[in-house]
Amino acid sequence: MSAQILSGTEVARAVKATVAEDIKELKSNGIDVGLATVLVGDDPASHVYVGYKHKDAEAVGMRSIDVKLPEDASQADVLAAVDELNGRSDVTGMIVQLPLPDGLDGEAAVERVLPTKDADGLHPFNLGRMILGLPGPLPATPSGVMTILDYYDIETAGKTAVVVGRSFLVGKPMALLLGAKGVDATVIQAHSRTPDLAAVCATADILVTAIGQPGLVDASFIKPGAVVIDVGTTRTDDGLRGDVVFDEVAEIAGAITPVPGGVGPMTRASLLTNTIGLARASL
Ligand code: NAP
Repeated sequence: MSAQILSGTEVARAVKATVAEDIKELKSNGIDVGLATVLVGDDPASHVYVGYKHKDAEAVGMRSIDVKLPEDASQADVLAAVDELNGRSDVTGMIVQLPLPDGLDGEAAVERVLPTKDADGLHPFNLGRMILGLPGPLPATPSGVMTILDYYDIETAGKTAVVVGRSFLVGKPMALLLGAKGVDATVIQAHSRTPDLAAVCATADILVTAIGQPGLVDASFIKPGAVVIDVGTTRTDDGLRGDVVFDEVAEIAGAITPVPGGVGPMTRASLLTNTIGLARASL
């Protein structure tokens, strides 16, 4: 393998150390930072993810508030839980764990979170501020990717970045952040209707895959020396798999994130930094 491994685990450790210091400082200013999660239903993966978020919060000295609703909760129950947390002064940030069970409207629940408590950075108000280049919480996963690039001093200005995926959760905000002023990559957004995806990806100096199809991205997609960020995570019988055929691509790429241990830990770290930013903004 010739590629440098971009370890999200390592970067997240550094981010958490900073967050722990921030929490001490905010406490000394009378701000008690509290992150709330709303989890609806029995989805095992969602329970695991939310459990990690509480563990992370505990590790940095952040209070966390765990609200769980049953699988048969109604939309009104979910909105009432969000309203209750919106009104609590000890909750400075909040997330609604997506996806919600069938029949419930996740976007409406996210919109119900006050933009000033939107730890996931997914409220339309905050997405709008991101488009305008104004400060505010950023969507956690793309923000985590930007932190990895920054930590490893990866040059973005003047580079061609290809983002595969166009969800509001990952792909769209990822493309916006890479093309933002000061970051200055030239961005191509690819998706399931992109003809000859491999050839498009092979133009990338920085390739971000947010697809959810294990092993779709093989060596034929990679420009020699490219930076490859694999956001994809799919649970398979062989464990968690990314979109990228790691061993093959690592022979050609200049740098690559592993799965697990790449973007995943950074998504959670960004949640903590967003919560700190929201607490500071409330001062
Ligand atoms: P999503 O909403 O399902 O979006 C997937 C995107 O991939 C869509 O834009 C889709 O194109 C595109 N796509 C699907 N098949 C394709 C193909 N064969 N060729 C090219 N493009 C294709 O998923 P998401 O929420 O963005 O998540 C994407 C992946 O990232 C998933 O594996 C998810 O589990 C993972 N994820 C990981 C983290 C983390 O922390 N590591 C966080 C969030 C998500 P169309 O728009 O044309 O349908």
